Amino acid sequence: ASWFGHVEPAAKDPILGVTEAFLADPSPDKVNVGVGAYREDNGRPVVLDCVREAERRIAGSMNMEYLPMGGSMEMIEQSLKLAYGEDSDFIKDKRIAAVQALSGTGACRLFADFQKRFLPDTKIYIPTPTWANHHNIWRDARNAPDGSFFLLHACAHNPTGVDPSEEQWREISHEFKVKKHFLFFDMAYQGFASGDPERDAKAIRIFLDDGHQIGCAQSYAKNMGLYGQRAGCLSILCDNEMQAVAVKSQLQQLARPMYSNPPLHGALIVSTILSDPELKSIWLQEVKCMADRIIGIRKALKENLERLASPLSWEHITNQIGMLCYSGMTPEQVDRLANEFHIYMTCNGRISMAGVTTRNVAYLANAIHEVTK
Ligand code: PMP
Repeated sequence: ASWFGHVEPAAKDPILGVTEAFLADPSPDKVNVGVGAYREDNGRPVVLDCVREAERRIAGSMNMEYLPMGGSMEMIEQSLKLAYGEDSDFIKDKRIAAVQALSGTGACRLFADFQKRFLPDTKIYIPTPTWANHHNIWRDARNAPDGSFFLLHACAHNPTGVDPSEEQWREISHEFKVKKHFLFFDMAYQGFASGDPERDAKAIRIFLDDGHQIGCAQSYAKNMGLYGQRAGCLSILCDNEMQAVAVKSQLQQLARPMYSNPPLHGALIVSTILSDPELKSIWLQEVKCMADRIIGIRKALKENLERLASPLSWEHITNQIGMLCYSGMTPEQVDRLANEFHIYMTCNGRISMAGVTTRNVAYLANAIHEVTK
């Protein structure tokens, strides 16, 4: 008998599967607007100047020892300043339990495991639609009783690119107070929505001002282009320092049997950039530059569609923010784009604007027009 004969192939990941299909297509015209990874206008992945410079500074000056179980203290401190505010009293009062995490996914997953171990009776409510992997990490959806856990995207909602306004966040915060809900912010795109990380943290700051306890997953995949480095942070605001120490120790305990301690290189890059005023200001310019390219290419896509006299409204392309555009195309139209035009995106019609360039925008617009008219 075979040990593994009963193992069926896993269902294809809805997002990563798109890249596989794209790679397998021999057409020279092919376009990948599936995975949400930033590309320059020449279609190539980008390594930020601040990252290259940080690597130069790190090179040769460090050993390869393990990080502590909770990760790099310097990286965690800088991450907290970025999310909670440079002068946050919560940081000074040591009320935040935080660990370095395996990028945003790892931060969400660690929180889910923490929740399962210490609050086994709480569900978490996640947006519909949301990033597909949230469903894998947590599972459930129903009318929320008071005192429920919620996950919301801090900014640049994936896949819709539609965020609540500041006014709406204040209302949400008020409702959460009334219902005694707990909010876990998934912040995978800080800086990518508006071009300014401070502005993109507004929702979190509103919740903090209103006296909520929150959790937060941060990722440096997009805003520093550190995708493969798996650099992120999980933080949980606690009642006091003693509680924060306890919670952090439990987060480490959860991480220990999974991966012992997080990777070093990405954490060093992040802390080197964020702790150096010169490198940080380069980073801020570069994030803004990425966000601006996306804003510009959204405009170009919309104008191209209008020029083709598309009878549909494409206002949402420029109203939405962040890297992703929720186009409104149906799975059938998405299929036609792949089969007839070699254009690949997730079946929910989500276009990664990062894959759209000056060179392919007219081709993409024409194809969208063809399948939607
Ligand atoms: N949350 C959301 C909403 C995302 O879009 C992403 C990236 N696709 C992540 C979390 C985490 O990505 P990573 O693990 O690469 O940081």
